[in-house]
Amino acid sequence: MAVEITDADEISRCIIFDRAFQDEIHVDEYLWRFDGKSPEGVYRESAVLRRLAPTPDDVHRIGCGIAAIQNERKQQPTGPSRRYYCGFRTAPYVALPKAGEGFFIIFTADGEGDAAHVDVALNVTVDGRNARANCRTNAGLALAEHFGPPAPHRCECDVGDGNHPFSLWGEQCLYGGLRDKWPQLHLVDNSPPTDQPDAGPSLLDPPS
Ligand SMILES: [Zn+2]
Ligand SMILES: [Zn+2]
Repeated sequence: MAVEITDADEISRCIIFDRAFQDEIHVDEYLWRFDGKSPEGVYRESAVLRRLAPTPDDVHRIGCGIAAIQNERKQQPTGPSRRYYCGFRTAPYVALPKAGEGFFIIFTADGEGDAAHVDVALNVTVDGRNARANCRTNAGLALAEHFGPPAPHRCECDVGDGNHPFSLWGEQCLYGGLRDKWPQLHLVDNSPPTDQPDAGPSLLDPPS
């Protein structure tokens, strides 16, 4: 069932390897790729309406499901071509750009697949392959800019998988590309090496 998104809402975006990664690190540039084929100039990605998925575990469950569906579609690949849900980032809906030069973005909480599912439809209004590609990049970055630091998570289903990004590069792979933005971003070192922390890294100087 569709619900209305309000300015009081928070939206989360799941970080999926390798979609949101540039080589070995997660980067803002790939948080929103909008790279599906679209002759009509409408590119879709999905997000999570936190009002209907309030706990970190709620989002993890959704992210785990996204990776599972993609792996199913790819016929259960192993190794580097496997998709892994690695955590999520959150933004206040009110801060997200709804339009920019050559594009507008429509957020619809359509509840499809999951009650908290939000369809994010980027409508590119310029023509030409390069112009469209530029708009997709700009729109993706304009969105990503408002998403806070990642809350890392390793799925139950991925425990013991040596090809998981956290196994290969550590949870740092989620932060390495974001240090320009949050120089103080660091992991809490005294946490036990478990599936935690779900609350995300600590920030000495959180962005407001
Ligand atoms: Zn999983
Ligand atoms: Zn999980």
